[in-house]
Amino acid sequence: MVRTGLVAGNWKMNGSLEQNQALLTAVVAGIRSLDRVNCAVCVPFPYLAQAQVLLNQTHLAWGAQNLSQYTHGAYTGEVSASMLVDFGVQFVIVGHSERRALFGESDQLVAEKFKTAQTAKLIPILCVGETLTQREANETESVIAGQLEAVIELNGVQALANAVIAYEPVWAIGTGKTATPQQAQDVHVFIRDKIATRDNQIAANVRIIYGGSVKADNARELFAMPDIDGGLIGGASLVADDFVSICKAA
Ligand code: PGA
Repeated sequence: MVRTGLVAGNWKMNGSLEQNQALLTAVVAGIRSLDRVNCAVCVPFPYLAQAQVLLNQTHLAWGAQNLSQYTHGAYTGEVSASMLVDFGVQFVIVGHSERRALFGESDQLVAEKFKTAQTAKLIPILCVGETLTQREANETESVIAGQLEAVIELNGVQALANAVIAYEPVWAIGTGKTATPQQAQDVHVFIRDKIATRDNQIAANVRIIYGGSVKADNARELFAMPDIDGGLIGGASLVADDFVSICKAA
């Protein structure tokens, strides 16, 4: 089975109209020759309109970093899935560790956001991953199993056919400390095996990407592992040359 690679940038709360224009223009030019890999950028909500204008008809897809679990109504400050669809969004990150840790998003809430995204035909990029304390306490597998099970319980294993999973060890995010290719591969296999207990076909087809200090100089060895299907890229997605190199490594 050949899974198509995906490299998605996660800009987090960075950017400006002017910087984005330069960054997106350079990335689009840089990845023009790629056809086998999917590339995307997940931008802050206010820049979705800019992304839509600049990226329409290019090889670079765009996405959001969060969405509301609700569809509409009296939820001040929230952004719905249908609003994202209005701006041509294809991907939406759900359950990023920063949202889990800093904004109190539980496994259950993440599962609900996943559902809302899929109902609107968006492709959720579901983030899972353990903290350093959890890894040191040998809880990596149980933590990830719990995060995954919450989504499967609510949405069914079939839902993973139209989703991407991002394994992001929290200790590797923004720290410059990358999981070794083998450490990442081991967890990716764990995730795939876990899904295979419910459905072999879905397990074989689902894209599992790695995130956490992926850079231009370590992307190739990570993506060379058989179960690593690309990356979710934070810091390095803000530098056009770096992001393009990472897309080319997938
Ligand atoms: P990083 O972030 O590449 O800066 O470590 C990854 C992420 O948070 O998705």
